Amino acid sequence: QKAKYPERVAFYNLDLEHNLLRKIMLNEALKGALERQEFRLVYQPIVDSAGQIVSFEALMRWRYQDQEISPVEFIPLMEQSGRIVEVGIWVLEEACKTLAKMRQCNADICMCVNISLIQFYDKGFVNHVKRVIEQYAIPGHLLHLEVTESIFRSDQMQINQKVSQLQQCGVKLSIDDFGTGYSSLSVIQNMNIDYIKIDRSFIQHIEQKGLSIVQAVMNMSKSLNFMVIAEGVETYKQRQILEQCGIPYMQGYYFSRPMEQSEAWNYLTAASSE
Ligand code: C2E
Ligand code: CA
Ligand code: CA
Ligand code: CA
Repeated sequence: QKAKYPERVAFYNLDLEHNLLRKIMLNEALKGALERQEFRLVYQPIVDSAGQIVSFEALMRWRYQDQEISPVEFIPLMEQSGRIVEVGIWVLEEACKTLAKMRQCNADICMCVNISLIQFYDKGFVNHVKRVIEQYAIPGHLLHLEVTESIFRSDQMQINQKVSQLQQCGVKLSIDDFGTGYSSLSVIQNMNIDYIKIDRSFIQHIEQKGLSIVQAVMNMSKSLNFMVIAEGVETYKQRQILEQCGIPYMQGYYFSRPMEQSEAWNYLTAASSE
């Protein structure tokens, strides 16, 4: 086999090597990225069924040597190195700082912040959340923390404790990318979750097999008392179907791409003067 396709084997090894080298390089670069102020947040609106903005989701961006590196690539690296805890603190602060500013235009606007599992279970997390919302005088219910279903993998006691500590601060909890991971409906049943974000993959296929999932989550939301957000809405058709399903909140390129902070501010002021 090797003799027959020597060049293919060589390419394969080169690819592997290239990926590994890139990881090592990015890991090195990530060490000082916070200090060098290479990170920033962009903001994507979440709208209600009337198309009115209700919140922004803060999404991290990393500019390294004139290149934008995707969070899909650098977040897992920071999770592996543990650096996500420190950087996550920065994200939360930056997002709350922006929220405080945005509230001068719309006092009820919410901010959704992605929290990685490692950060969520870090000892100092709850205190940090408390401190930040106090510092920026933010009513807790305006801050929504997005965690993925992987939080359910730790034991029930630990989850419930963390969730109730956070809810004592008033902050809301969302399950991100719902339907893609380790989802146990019974766990959700036992938990006090505020929002569920249905993953983009179901919205993409809403005209075919995605619909039954969306309907099932909608039905569940009524008895279990959580709100539903559809993410990754890209077309009018998708929006229409979701509306027919009674989905109260939507997010996606159809409404807006993530925006730089100044753009997001303009978007909000324009929406408020309508
Ligand atoms: P996510 O939390 O599921 O965020 C949604 C992702 O989908 C974002 O990608 C967003 O730009 C993109 N998106 C939004 N609407 C659409 C749409 O209509 N179509 C398509 N195709 N994509 C859409 P992004 O910004 O590249 O972020 C990727 C992931 O990186 C996030 O997925 C999240 O898991 C993670 N991430 C981003 N920022 C942070 C952060 O501050 N902390 C943590 N822990 N994770 C973050
Ligand atoms: Ca998210
Ligand atoms: Ca998501
Ligand atoms: Ca996702």
